[in-house]
Amino acid sequence: MDPGARLAALALTLCLAAPAALAQQKANVLFGRMDTPSRQGAEAIGSYAKGCAAGLVQLPETGPTWQAMRLSRNRNWGHPEAIGFIVDLSEFATRVGWKGLYVGDISQPRGGPMTSGHQSHQIGLDIDIWMKPATRLNLSRAQRESLSSISVRSADQRSVNGNWTRAHHEILKRAARDSRVDRVFVTPPVKIEMCKTASRGDRDWMQKIRPIYGHHYHFHVRLKCPRGNRACETQRPTVAELSKGGDGCDETLMWWVTDYLDPPKVQKPAEPAPKRRGARDYTLADLPRQCQQVLAAR
Ligand SMILES: [Zn+2]
Repeated sequence: MDPGARLAALALTLCLAAPAALAQQKANVLFGRMDTPSRQGAEAIGSYAKGCAAGLVQLPETGPTWQAMRLSRNRNWGHPEAIGFIVDLSEFATRVGWKGLYVGDISQPRGGPMTSGHQSHQIGLDIDIWMKPATRLNLSRAQRESLSSISVRSADQRSVNGNWTRAHHEILKRAARDSRVDRVFVTPPVKIEMCKTASRGDRDWMQKIRPIYGHHYHFHVRLKCPRGNRACETQRPTVAELSKGGDGCDETLMWWVTDYLDPPKVQKPAEPAPKRRGARDYTLADLPRQCQQVLAAR
């Protein structure tokens, strides 16, 4: 082979090898490095806990009825539908006496797994909102790093505490009734309290309020796959399947404040569960193929 042909062959080998090597790299490192969104049409790709997002937009750091918190994380990026939802819900918050909302993490500029924190929040459709009512909207960047949210859960984890208010109830209800919303995750005592205090009659929205561990300093809104986002995976089981068409105010909810907190004694030692792979284990190859284009796009 003459030197020119050898060089061409080498270049071809490198070209083919480079993408394969890239695909084996940790997705959270690759996506964690991206500090701008891809210049593509907005699209949620994959699932909430294994995917990425194209064409995300930034939630403005401060708006008329919100402030984005922890700006240093650069996770105030969402699908346009998520940003629209935040604008609407924060406006509603002013009608129940808050100045607006303090908004926590949404997604990284191109979504994807993160190097710290969340398993989900990967496709621009998960939004954390602080339980701490916004009392002012002129917090500095530094204050937004140091200020803490408040917990609405009692120390014994079985009920809400004095920080819980009717305004929280109304804001969560509003979120659950929004047709863009798939489900809202809250600490179980919040759902138990809402089950007790929600008016009878129309309670269909209540099934979207889902109990989960944590989530007493913030609630977590998960939007449905936006129309036309064909690579976006709808979550299964659906909320209707989980609550069997009811409002979810049942024994499965009470489990969280009984057996979950005081597990019944097991007779024989359980086999250690095999470690499940999580968001921080995924390589780029584990994500939908389209995520490679999202990463490579300008
Ligand atoms: Zn969250």
